[in-house]
Amino acid sequence: MNTIAIDGPAGAGKSTIAKRVAKNLSYIYVDTGAMYRAMALYLIRNQVKPEETEKIEKASEHADISIAYENGEQQVLLNGENVTSLLRTEEVGNMASKSSANPKVRTKLVELQRKLASKQPVVMDGRDIGTQVLPNANIKIYLTASTHTRALRRYKELNEKGESCNLQTIEEDIALRDHQDMTREISPLKKAEDAVLLDSSDMTIDEVVSKIMGMVK
Ligand code: C5P
Repeated sequence: MNTIAIDGPAGAGKSTIAKRVAKNLSYIYVDTGAMYRAMALYLIRNQVKPEETEKIEKASEHADISIAYENGEQQVLLNGENVTSLLRTEEVGNMASKSSANPKVRTKLVELQRKLASKQPVVMDGRDIGTQVLPNANIKIYLTASTHTRALRRYKELNEKGESCNLQTIEEDIALRDHQDMTREISPLKKAEDAVLLDSSDMTIDEVVSKIMGMVK
C-alpha cells in the first residue's frame, strides 16, 4: 500500500500540508494527533491527572477510539461519540502530550493507525509515523519550523476559532510540548534517518506541498 509519513513538532503545518497532499493524490489523510487528543479528552472528562499512570492505563482500556470519514474529513469517535470538534484546544493538546508517553496508550493507537494504512493509501501525520508506525513508508517527511513561527500559526488558528489565547503562553506550551515529545522514552519525536527534512519557516504552504508532490513524482 502507498504510504506517506509526515512527522514533526506541534504547529509545523503538518495537518494542512498532509491534507493537501492527500487530496492531490486521492489518498486518505490520517491525523494521528487527533487520536491521542481523543484519549486525552477521555482522561480529562474522567478527571485523570497526567501523572496517574495506572489510571491512564485503565482508562485507555475503556476508551474506544475509532475513525470515520465524512465528506473526506476525518472524524474521531470516542466510545461512539463524535468528538472531533472538541479536540483542538490547548488543554487537550497539553494533556495529549503527557498521556501519549504511556506505552499502553501508544500500543492501542499504533495498532489502529497501522490497520488504517493497510486498507488504503494514506498520508499520515504525527510524531513517530516514519520511525515506528510505518517504517516502510514510501516517502517520509520531517516537517519543522522555528518555535516562534509555529506559535504564531497556532495563535492565529485559535483566534480564528474565537478561542481566547495569549501568544507568549502558546510559545511556552509549544516549547514544553516539543521537549516532552522529543525526550520521552517511547517513540520520541525525531527525524527518521531516511526522512527528508523540510523547514517551513520561510516557505509557503504551496511551496511545501509542491516539494512533496515533486518527491512523489
Ligand atoms: O499533532 P497534535 O498536536 O494534534 O498532537 C497532540 C499530541 O499527541 C502531541 O503533542 C504528541 O504528544 C502526541 N502524538 C504522539 N504521536 C503521534 C501524534 C501525536 O505522541 N503520532
